[in-house]
Amino acid sequence: MTDPTARYDVLVVGGGNAALCAAITARRAGATVLILESATKDFRGGNSRHTRDIRYMHRAATEFVTDAYGEDEFWQDLSDVTGGATDDRLARLTIRESETLADWMAANGVRWQKPLRGTLHLARSNLFMLGGGKAMINAYYHTAARSGVEIRYETEVQDLEIRNGEFVSAVAAHNGECEQIRSKAIVLAAGGFEANVPWLKEYWGEAAENFIIRGTPNNQGRMLKELLRHGAKAVGDPRGCHAVALDARAPKFDGGIVTRLDSVPFGIVVNREGNRFYDEGEDFWPKRYAIWGKLIAEQAAQIAYSIVDSKALPHFMPSVFPPVGAGSIDKLAAALNLDPAALTAAVEQFNKSVRAGSFDPARLDDCRTAGLEPPKSHWAVRIDTPPYYGYPLRPGITFTYLGLSVDEGARVMMHDGRSAKNIFAAGEIMAGNILGKGYLAGFGLTIGSVFGRIAGREAARYVQS
Ligand SMILES: Cc1cc2nc3c(=O)[nH]c(=O)nc-3n(C[C@H](O)[C@H](O)[C@H](O)COP(=O)(O)OP(=O)(O)OC[C@H]3O[C@@H](n4cnc5c(N)ncnc54)[C@H](O)[C@@H]3O)c2cc1C
Repeated sequence: MTDPTARYDVLVVGGGNAALCAAITARRAGATVLILESATKDFRGGNSRHTRDIRYMHRAATEFVTDAYGEDEFWQDLSDVTGGATDDRLARLTIRESETLADWMAANGVRWQKPLRGTLHLARSNLFMLGGGKAMINAYYHTAARSGVEIRYETEVQDLEIRNGEFVSAVAAHNGECEQIRSKAIVLAAGGFEANVPWLKEYWGEAAENFIIRGTPNNQGRMLKELLRHGAKAVGDPRGCHAVALDARAPKFDGGIVTRLDSVPFGIVVNREGNRFYDEGEDFWPKRYAIWGKLIAEQAAQIAYSIVDSKALPHFMPSVFPPVGAGSIDKLAAALNLDPAALTAAVEQFNKSVRAGSFDPARLDDCRTAGLEPPKSHWAVRIDTPPYYGYPLRPGITFTYLGLSVDEGARVMMHDGRSAKNIFAAGEIMAGNILGKGYLAGFGLTIGSVFGRIAGREAARYVQS
């Protein structure tokens, strides 16, 4: 039975994409809804406000996507990156339900734009939001407020009262004051724990101090921890995270999309000792960029350097911070605080191993190295045209994989195998069910939107039952 003393039907914790999709859906289904967002109004929207595009299944080209992207291909792409670390039922559900997202999002205020150059080969599979995630989030807040969803900012949910797997109330802190809020159901859409450096250190040790957090400082994983404490079943590798190669000069938090560097496939990457450590041209960048954060995290002092020459510059998105430049490799090494002899040796060895081919960034070309360890499998072109450029790189964490196990109705699964009656989860906090490892560009929003809508629908259905 639902709580007759509850002031709200559905409490939504979090203020990003998944939270808003849930809140709008629950409200439309007739529920009273309260959103609690720990950020200020200006910084609302969590990591969702940093996004640009969403992956979705579609049967034909439109004004904004260049061709069809069907269920089988979507499934194959997902299987390739997860290597099978996915819940098949939930993954199929996500893919199929994504087909209606374009219309749903547009109906709730989102506008599209044609993909720009340098957008990671996504013109066919992904839709780009006009104005990016910030505009999407603003549109959703506008829709939610207009439809009667109550929204409170600077309000962090700290504790949850849960009895026998049933949510009773939440303790929310605002301006140093705590309030107990009762609702008939709760949707947890509070992101991962990527901004909680002490928690990251439990799995990564001191190295985590050198990680840069690409998104909001508010994703502390408090709701995740609360649920795990109350007996929810965990999913995903606690050490697992989506981490990219980021400009080491980026701010510690919230640098967003612009601090990512896409120069890696067009040169070589060395560590602090001046040694290469991974194949920079293993596959297309959209399929590989998400492994580079972890690769750098495993290097001494969690730093690496992308080295290119002037021929390479037109092939990747310009960086927000200018590259370090020099007329020779040893001068570049000195400017980057690297050993000039070591960097010169790495570049010479690489140049000697490059086999002639026809360079083509649009395909897996035949420009590769021979006899070099590790090899560079594609786009291997001699680094020989000054000026030479270098970018210092650090691991930039996008999100963590540890999350709450859910069923097809977005209900949180408890340790005893039962689904919690009135506790739902959506977005990064449960994405590990579907993405056990790896990443597909634009899929974070897909999972959050699909499960946000399911959570909103099922929470409303529960309170009305
Ligand atoms: C730089 C960057 C670029 C990205 N680009 C893309 C992209 O183009 N496409 C894509 O699909 N994905 C992208 N992602 C991933 C994407 O951002 C996430 O998958 C998605 O936004 C997660 O949505 P969410 O609603 O679960 O979490 P978030 O959007 O992070 O929202 C979590 C919310 O919870 C709030 N919160 C946390 N704890 C509490 C608490 N205790 N009480 C109250 N509120 C709380 C936070 O303030 C925040 O508002 C990107 C991520 C980053 C960092």
